[in-house]
Amino acid sequence: MTAASQARDLFTELTGSGPVGTWSAPGRVNLIGEHTDYNDGFVLPFAIQQRTCVALGERADGHIRVTSTVEGETVEVDLTGLDLLFPKNRGAVPEWSTYPLGVAWALLRATGVDAASVRGVDLAIASDVPIGAGLSSSAAIEGAVAAALNDTWRLGLDRVALAQVGRTAENDAVGAPTGIMDQMASMLGRADAAIFLDCRSLEADVVDLGFTDAGLEIVVIDTGVKHSHATGGYGERREACERGAAAMGVPALRDLSVDDLARAAELMDEVTFRRVRHIVTENQRVLDTVRALREQGPSAIGELLLASHASMRDDFEISVAELDTAVDAAMAAGAVGARMTGGGFGGAAIALVAHDSVATVTDAATAAFAASGFAAPTIFSVRPSAGAARDV
Ligand code: ADP
Ligand code: MG
Repeated sequence: MTAASQARDLFTELTGSGPVGTWSAPGRVNLIGEHTDYNDGFVLPFAIQQRTCVALGERADGHIRVTSTVEGETVEVDLTGLDLLFPKNRGAVPEWSTYPLGVAWALLRATGVDAASVRGVDLAIASDVPIGAGLSSSAAIEGAVAAALNDTWRLGLDRVALAQVGRTAENDAVGAPTGIMDQMASMLGRADAAIFLDCRSLEADVVDLGFTDAGLEIVVIDTGVKHSHATGGYGERREACERGAAAMGVPALRDLSVDDLARAAELMDEVTFRRVRHIVTENQRVLDTVRALREQGPSAIGELLLASHASMRDDFEISVAELDTAVDAAMAAGAVGARMTGGGFGGAAIALVAHDSVATVTDAATAAFAASGFAAPTIFSVRPSAGAARDV
């Protein structure tokens, strides 16, 4: 059953009648450009065919009620009470509900619309984006809810503004210090194309991937190792980047180029320097990848993907043994390139693979995980796909 029909069924179960419409937004895979987003740098994600779907109906009162196939607990609050919940009292509601409720809160705040002036809503949410696998189920739920409420409340925000609302929800309502990349990819995605995003200006260019013509596809190797954005290493990496930028006297690491690295090595401790070197070289790799795609096509980006993985493993230190195993196995089995994708500390690796090699790569990764005593990975292909939309 598709996420859309699951969401409709769940809505009917909740309210006893059908929704007025359904909206959906995709997860994303980042082709290259990891941890560059919050450094004002460059990223190259694409939206995938897996989507989160929201079925919406209006209510007579001013409440918002949210329910999901993934989480047991239905949550209902007064829209005028959202300001009391976020950001300080988020703990008063179940964590999952801070995503959709946070989007409602951030939308009203961004538009200056009075919570007492909009209609209450029921939202039923279903998804086929794997959760916590680095495919951004969080941006998918934010994007679907943002699109649904923007239309229903006739707020008139454009896609970039809706992406910013999703980010505000995730940063301030959920409390996860993430960048804008995921939401932009989920909002702006196109078939067989990636979004080349300048995270400082939010300028976004569509870059054709040409996978179809080249007979290539992206295989995701989900390690099943769960990461958490709200705690742990992600926040530490952000702090190291801020430290590095401050030491160099620039607003963000985006303002450094590869030529500045020799000076950086003298101005900061060794660990901070390696964090900085990852960001600076990764920004350059994104630019090189865009050029390679435009001038030579997708077969030419394999080395860049591999160099990105090595930089995350050795300099940024966000890989884990399972991700390294996935990349090595895919390459040994004939992939064009491979790298871990997403925030790190678990999640998924991607491999760029010719259609006829997909079975070989899949078998090789499965065998390598078994040989290392890791739990079996989940392996599937993703198709670069369209962004958030009203479905019916
Ligand atoms: P990722 O974005 O990589 O999947 P995150 O930790 O950023 O992982 O976001 C996952 C969290 O988002 C889940 O733990 C849950 O709280 C929330 N979430 C995502 N999708 C859904 C959904 N369909 N229903 C309920 N909660 C969801
Ligand atoms: Mg996420």
